[in-house]
Amino acid sequence: MLKILFLLFPFIASAQVVEVNPLHSTLKFETLVTKTLVILKEHRTTIGTETYNSIVSGKVRVDEFSDFTFEDYKHFLIEFSELVSTNKLTLEDYSTLQNPNSTALKIIENTIQGFAYGNRIYINVRDHTPLLLASTLVHEVNHVLNQSEKVYYRGPRQAFREEYRAYYVEALFMEQDLWDPRFCRMLKIKVLGLVNDTDELNPDEFPDKPDGKLIPSLINWGYGV
Ligand SMILES: [Zn+2]
Repeated sequence: MLKILFLLFPFIASAQVVEVNPLHSTLKFETLVTKTLVILKEHRTTIGTETYNSIVSGKVRVDEFSDFTFEDYKHFLIEFSELVSTNKLTLEDYSTLQNPNSTALKIIENTIQGFAYGNRIYINVRDHTPLLLASTLVHEVNHVLNQSEKVYYRGPRQAFREEYRAYYVEALFMEQDLWDPRFCRMLKIKVLGLVNDTDELNPDEFPDKPDGKLIPSLINWGYGV
């Protein structure tokens, strides 16, 4: 019994989120996530509250960059391969990520706000306010919901579609002007600038409302129709 309690303790300790690595956590992470979950839980949009439900139910796991699994760190290096080709990051740097003064960790924090792979989401705990993190979680949960990594790497067109959808639901969460075609066009142009090798793509050939799943509801997760 004691052993079972011991095994459960890390999950209980990190209030409401299932961490990728429950054996390692920081006060900064826990404080930020706790404040962020309140925002999501009490948000007036469905995208906000369903993102909250998806996190507290454990459908997605959330952690900080220092708790990357080795495999997910490798996936991160593949997506941001310019960090490897310019010798900023190496595979060996993985062992330094939990060091508070890790240069590799700082480089990752300077590069992205969040990263999703499989059902795991990693977040930047250095640069986020709770409201910004709420928006980042809406974005990353959408990638998990749509299993973005399965199509993302097939080419710029597929990567754009996955990324535009994730930014679209962030705009839904922030209650921006998605009804306005000019807003959607600006959003598409912004996303084209963020995804590699999209010079050939025309923003007007993609629908304003993206295909795929938008709201992380039970039905969209595949439960009870
Ligand atoms: Zn994204």
